[in-house]
Amino acid sequence: MADLAITGPVLRDGRLEEAVVVVDGGRISAVEPAGTHVDAAERVRLAADEVLLPGLVDTHVHVNEPGRTEWEGFASATRAAAAGGVTTLVDMPLNSIPPTVDPAALETKRRAAEGRCHVDVGFWGGAVPSSLGRLRALADEGVFGFKCFLVDSGVPEFAPLDRAQLDRALAEVASFDGLMVVHAEDPDVLADAPACAGPSYAGFVGSRPREAEDAAISGLLDLARENGTRVHVLHLSSASALPLLAKARADGVRVTVETCPHYLTLSAEEVPDGHTEFKCCPPIRDAANRDALWRALVDGAIDAVVSDHSPSTVDLKRLDTGDFGSAWGGVASLQLGLPLMWTAARERGIGLGQVVAWMSTGPAALAGLDAKGAIEPGRDADLVAFAPDASFVVDPGRLHHRNPVTPYAGRTLTGAVRDVWLTGRRIVAGGSVAPDPLGRLIRKDRR
Ligand SMILES: [Zn+2]
Repeated sequence: MADLAITGPVLRDGRLEEAVVVVDGGRISAVEPAGTHVDAAERVRLAADEVLLPGLVDTHVHVNEPGRTEWEGFASATRAAAAGGVTTLVDMPLNSIPPTVDPAALETKRRAAEGRCHVDVGFWGGAVPSSLGRLRALADEGVFGFKCFLVDSGVPEFAPLDRAQLDRALAEVASFDGLMVVHAEDPDVLADAPACAGPSYAGFVGSRPREAEDAAISGLLDLARENGTRVHVLHLSSASALPLLAKARADGVRVTVETCPHYLTLSAEEVPDGHTEFKCCPPIRDAANRDALWRALVDGAIDAVVSDHSPSTVDLKRLDTGDFGSAWGGVASLQLGLPLMWTAARERGIGLGQVVAWMSTGPAALAGLDAKGAIEPGRDADLVAFAPDASFVVDPGRLHHRNPVTPYAGRTLTGAVRDVWLTGRRIVAGGSVAPDPLGRLIRKDRR
């Protein structure tokens, strides 16, 4: 007898089909046609307005514990993830103290996370000047790849790489066929741009011009080509970099790229001056740029949509002064990604299958999470009962984020996460997150 059988419209290969998903031992053991009799200890039939999706995979989350747990911690972040239908997240190596730059720091992070996670959690490692030459040891401990900055990261303990250091790091990562994920803004272009101070949003965007992204991506692609390294461009905001990426891919450079819900659902024109809850780096740009990002997604030129959930305490967002120069840069959206994307996609005539490909299948493939990202026999039974026509108004008080600062307050969104199963166990029921943290700490298996 199976453990669980869920019957209803199931999203597979981009389409909804009436089916029975059979779960045994935490994994999907079979997907049977509707009407098939299945012996199961627990049977669930989805409500008439629900569909079953694979759990989302968010490979860009800053949890910040230990060290800056007051910004966000494992319990609060993974509760928010679960409530938003995200069943796997991969934590960024910076903003926690210590940053995840060596095996001892990774062990410290794992101890902080152990027993607190409501979803499965993996870790990225950090490539900083002091960790070069020692990256392999961290890869052997199961990080999913390495993150580096080329500009000031915002925290002193995570230094950027200069061009020569990036070259060395890419050669090193290539030597064990690892993955380098890059915050791509160019320090020289930023240094030449006007400085940002005060509440003007246009002033802030002017201080982080698209040329900074384009130059950094161009330089990265050159070095990735020379070193044969697999690279990934984080949080692409500048659509003018897309032709560079397309050309490099056509030339055989192993490069993938992600963007984020805030670049796809917001635009510079609608950011009021002084509203630093919209500040992130690179910045949210104009509406024409946003539309170009959507076209690239639909064309398959962008591989994944992930949150870049990067909160801070309320005081560091400087909502009091509205000063874009001194406010922490980061948009918190872990719990809202799916309804944000679904609301915007549907207005553009884009189906749920595409959204799931960008937010589950794509990120799982990027990180090499072979057991995640689809409802297929053999994969983990990470499943979401989603009501695509339900709508709600974003109320910051209902967010599980530790600091419920959000640029989406008051927005009406379509799509509700009702129930979530993680490896076959229900972690969200009727929209409420279960008290037991059932998530596991996962590691990259290197073959
Ligand atoms: Zn980030």
